[in-house]
Amino acid sequence: MHPWNEAVLESLKKARQRLPHALLIHGPRGVGKLALAEQFAQLLLCEHADPLARPCGRCDACRWYLTGNHPDFRRIEPEALAKTPPVDAETEEGTEAPARRTKQPSIVITVEQVRALADFLNLRSHRGALRIALVHPAEDLYPNAANALLKGLEEPPPGAIFILVSHRPARLLPTVRSRCVAVPVPIPPADAALRWLASRGVQNAERWLAFAGGAPLQAVQYAQEAAGWERLLKSPQPVDDRESLERLAEALQKLAYDRAFLAFGLAPKYRTGTSASSPAKLRRLLAFARQMGENRQLTRHPLNPRLFSADMLASMVHLT
Ligand SMILES: [Zn+2]
Repeated sequence: MHPWNEAVLESLKKARQRLPHALLIHGPRGVGKLALAEQFAQLLLCEHADPLARPCGRCDACRWYLTGNHPDFRRIEPEALAKTPPVDAETEEGTEAPARRTKQPSIVITVEQVRALADFLNLRSHRGALRIALVHPAEDLYPNAANALLKGLEEPPPGAIFILVSHRPARLLPTVRSRCVAVPVPIPPADAALRWLASRGVQNAERWLAFAGGAPLQAVQYAQEAAGWERLLKSPQPVDDRESLERLAEALQKLAYDRAFLAFGLAPKYRTGTSASSPAKLRRLLAFARQMGENRQLTRHPLNPRLFSADMLASMVHLT
């Protein structure tokens, strides 16, 4: 877990005696919500005699948890995000290259995954205590899956704890949201984030932390992909695949905001290296930035990336 989230973990520890059956840990992408949720799950499962020493990292429960084998813990997430991709049943042993997957891994949490979770939660706990389900990211619940989860949230089996993690809680079903106790995870103070980035040897940390809007884990990712982002910010080009489309929308959004900040006479928040636009274009620039924010979500829908990106770039040209 990341040092800046200690205070949130402490507040969760204090709430342990009257633990709600569902938590919604939410905040911007890249502030360490998942690591916090995992640490709290381990804390709840730890069997160390002294509650203050939990999670101890040494008891059976902790060891099972840390190796991904605790029988009372399940984590569900889109197949495409899973740490260990499911083994392709068609891959033959001894072949040189794994057989080509016939199906793309799912980018949503499916209703089957939630049903399997319900089966798990309805069993009695193996260790006589809690059963914990971690759902990440909760906004990726496919509509049927969200409805299936809602049933569990409305009538939770005894001892079941749901921990939902979300970057975009506004996209959850309001009925799901209202069943959970919200745990906000804010952007950490810049000095704490920079100390941590420095300890990891991240190059140009200040610049990428700004580009990440202050989210340290995002900053690490940007720094790793620095050359690609520099190129994209300097001369954005039409793209052919959806992942590049999402990045392009993000780059254009942040360029537009920085131009607007500069036109206002303010420091450019995202440090994209762009120059100011004429103040006369401010209103259109902000509308464009908002549109790009929406496009970052749209890019997961079926569309033609080349046409879509060319269209975004054409709108940007009028705003320089
Ligand atoms: Zn332990």
